[in-house]
Amino acid sequence: MIQDLNSKQPLVSDIKLTWHAVLKKLNKEYGNEIYNSWLKNLKVKTLENETLVFSVPSKFIRDWITAHYVDKIIFYIEEESPEIKRVKIIVDAMLANDHDAMNSEIFIEKNRKSKEVSYTHQSDDWPLDERFTFEKFVVGHPNELAYASAKRMAQPEKFDFNPLFIYGGVGLGKTHLMHSIAWEIKNHNENAKVLYLSAERFMFQFIKSLRQKDTMSFKQKFRSVDVLIIDDIQFMMGKSSTQEEFFHTFNSLLDLNKKVIISSDRAPSDLDSFDDRIKSRLSWGLVADILPANFELRHEILKKKALELSLKYENKITIAEDVIIFLAKTIANNVRELEGALNKVVTFANLMNRKVDVELAQTVLKDLLRSSNRRITIDEIQSKVASYFNIKVDDIMSAKRIRSFARPRQIAMYLSKKLTSRSLPEIGRKFGGRDHTTVIHAVKKVDQLKSESNKFDEDINVLTQIITSS
Ligand code: ADP
Ligand code: MG
Repeated sequence: MIQDLNSKQPLVSDIKLTWHAVLKKLNKEYGNEIYNSWLKNLKVKTLENETLVFSVPSKFIRDWITAHYVDKIIFYIEEESPEIKRVKIIVDAMLANDHDAMNSEIFIEKNRKSKEVSYTHQSDDWPLDERFTFEKFVVGHPNELAYASAKRMAQPEKFDFNPLFIYGGVGLGKTHLMHSIAWEIKNHNENAKVLYLSAERFMFQFIKSLRQKDTMSFKQKFRSVDVLIIDDIQFMMGKSSTQEEFFHTFNSLLDLNKKVIISSDRAPSDLDSFDDRIKSRLSWGLVADILPANFELRHEILKKKALELSLKYENKITIAEDVIIFLAKTIANNVRELEGALNKVVTFANLMNRKVDVELAQTVLKDLLRSSNRRITIDEIQSKVASYFNIKVDDIMSAKRIRSFARPRQIAMYLSKKLTSRSLPEIGRKFGGRDHTTVIHAVKKVDQLKSESNKFDEDINVLTQIITSS
């Protein structure tokens, strides 16, 4: 099946090794089920110039892989073999028995800026998504201020405020804006030292440096950057030594006139467990919020994404205006869900070879609509968990520590975090005025138990079903 390769190119055996390594990573990332049903079908056929060609046995498999896994496939291939720039998947007519298989090939190329300039992204120091750029961000009233200030912060000249603090609910574009700042600064000046990381990673690295008794190099690393971007600072709550270290880093960068950009799911003054002086220092510069997208913005975002999708499908798919309006009206929670819904509809239409119309959208989104129309409440979760375990709701709320109450209580907290948009402190309050750290602990514990025991994992899945399907 492997064809002869041009001598300038890597040897077949090299490609096979590359692909073997990539498959291993994909398997690890997606698990056995997806690996066996989809990824395993990809057979390396040949390398043409810089394009690695695969064959698969059917159009269906090709489209599904293209819609769901191809970005990751390219990403890992590039990690292993940077000389490979593109991937092509063809349907093997021999295997397919399919008349139009001969001309059904799709080209996938990642249009990445990082290729033109010379930095690469090793997942650790440049963990940025190339889709998250200013060009791809749709501006509307709810995010206008955040966008304008992010844009300003990314300009090379002097800045009028520092730090920039962006806050807003889940899926509203905070991370997108922060990545955009990093990309743009790098575009202006390739040598700028831009460090983007989540607060969790910051904590992790700090704790590691403490353990290795090497806080000096930690300090040096963070204090030598030109721009520091920290995402989701709310996760730094309740860890006082990390907060302290963060505060020092933060202060010294501000003193050196280095740009600092921070995001959070809430305003600085609502970062409950942060020290007052940190809270006030965080709001020294500009504080910009992102509000939930209104209909107009949702409409604009969908129009843009629809255009991108139809390009991706080489104009074989058109998404009519009434479908866009239907989605913009129906899905009001956050932009991530909006995007997900559109993708789901288009993938389905493509696989089933159907037109994208409102009827199809309604069918595909039935599940999603149910969950976004009906807001699950914490009260509901508490009562369903109690009845599942045959205990009283009062016992869930109480301070009793025996296992038969404590475990359901933790599960109810966990499900409240997963199935509602309530914040950790709000959940704590709803459980008899507990602290948010108790909720964090519960979430961690349940995650751990889920991974240790199939039976426990199943309990959680069944409960989730019960709660979301009623
Ligand atoms: P957050 O960090 O606030 O939870 P993200 O930045 O991860 O949210 O955004 C969630 C998804 O929605 C991303 O895919 C992002 O590209 C998209 N998104 C959010 N806001 C916009 C916008 N205004 N324009 C285009 N895409 C957006
Ligand atoms: Mg985010």
